[in-house]
Amino acid sequence: MKTVTILGATGSVGSSTLDLIEREPERFEVLALTANCDVAKLAAAAIRTNAKRAVVADAACLDDLRDALAGTGIEARGGAEAICEAARMGADWTMAAIVGLAGLAPVMAALEGGGMVVLANKEPLVSAGDLVLAAAVRHGATLLPADSEHNAIYQCFDFARPERVRRVILTASGGPFRDWDLAAMRGVTPEQAVAHPNWSMGAKISVDSATMMNKGLELIEAARLFPVPPAALEIIVHRQSVIHSMVEYVDGSILAQLGPSDMRVPIAHTLAWPDRMETPMAPLDFAALGRLDFAEPDPERFPALALARHALEAGGARPAILNAANEVAVAAFLSGRLNFLEIAAISADTLERYDPAAPDSLDAVLAIDAEARRYAVERVKDCVV
Ligand code: NDP
Repeated sequence: MKTVTILGATGSVGSSTLDLIEREPERFEVLALTANCDVAKLAAAAIRTNAKRAVVADAACLDDLRDALAGTGIEARGGAEAICEAARMGADWTMAAIVGLAGLAPVMAALEGGGMVVLANKEPLVSAGDLVLAAAVRHGATLLPADSEHNAIYQCFDFARPERVRRVILTASGGPFRDWDLAAMRGVTPEQAVAHPNWSMGAKISVDSATMMNKGLELIEAARLFPVPPAALEIIVHRQSVIHSMVEYVDGSILAQLGPSDMRVPIAHTLAWPDRMETPMAPLDFAALGRLDFAEPDPERFPALALARHALEAGGARPAILNAANEVAVAAFLSGRLNFLEIAAISADTLERYDPAAPDSLDAVLAIDAEARRYAVERVKDCVV
């Protein structure tokens, strides 16, 4: 039996993870499931999987959780620290699927247990990559990427000979507006932005995919995870999302990982690693697919890509600042306070505004994050939708 904990169990990645785990109850024992405040979904999943503990980050939701779990024997906890305590329960395998930098402290807590920590939650790696990687080494934990691109690269990357890698090529669907012109993009609604053509995902990452900030964050994530220089990291638009990413070697060979656009494939890879497990996915039908297309991303319509590359190459605290500003701007867009094109504009402004040193502690990351958020919130107030 492998013990598992899912941080962000009620979200899109959390639900995909539960789906796989519930198919093989004899193989997985659930220690803890966490959410922000979706008590109904959390309690139902905890009862179905016979979890030992269920935790809500929002302490105001704890009474409801207690009521929902009354008589089941499942412990109910609440508050941000309770999420970290759940992450420290020492699961063999932990899925980090909280959205945003809110997942950083829980990821650090999960690493303390020295087990396997699977990162879907990319923002902690973007904002605090050095700290996360150092904690994994310090505690003897294994980090595996669940983000489909990074999971693909992980499966293709020769870690014994990184100097033989010429390029790492991240594929991008291009999002729902890949064929729209700038004028049309200005009027994009939240409903249009979250309707991703290939993937079913949570609201924040769907908007990030629409602005292509998601690919920018993934560029930084890739630089943290794979020992190649930033110049070796490339992005190509591949609208079918069948090739999840590629690694090119110095002899011209390119290894790619292909599969359906369903997060259960990369999650299953990490759940069974280094073994393989069955998933319910139908085999890819290449004849029906017919073709695979590739195109350069358009820097004018998707300025987030250049922002992320700048943050990566200039380094220091810039990735953390970019992430913070983007989180604020995406939340403002989703609540109707910002137009779509202003998401990248606010991120660019905030990035230019600050130049603090690289954070060397969790507190330093959180302080930089808070400062950048304060500025971005003020900038949002200046915008007229
Ligand atoms: P969702 O919005 O669907 O789910 C987010 C989860 O985090 C929910 O369980 C939510 O709880 C919980 N949560 C939200 N805020 C907090 C908080 N402050 N403290 C604790 N828990 C919180 O997101 P996704 O599943 O789409 O994405 C999760 C992460 O994985 C993101 O970082 C994303 O970039 C990454 N990712 C997602 C992919 C996808 O296919 N969805 C693909 C690759 C990466 P509640 O339901 O109660 O609000």
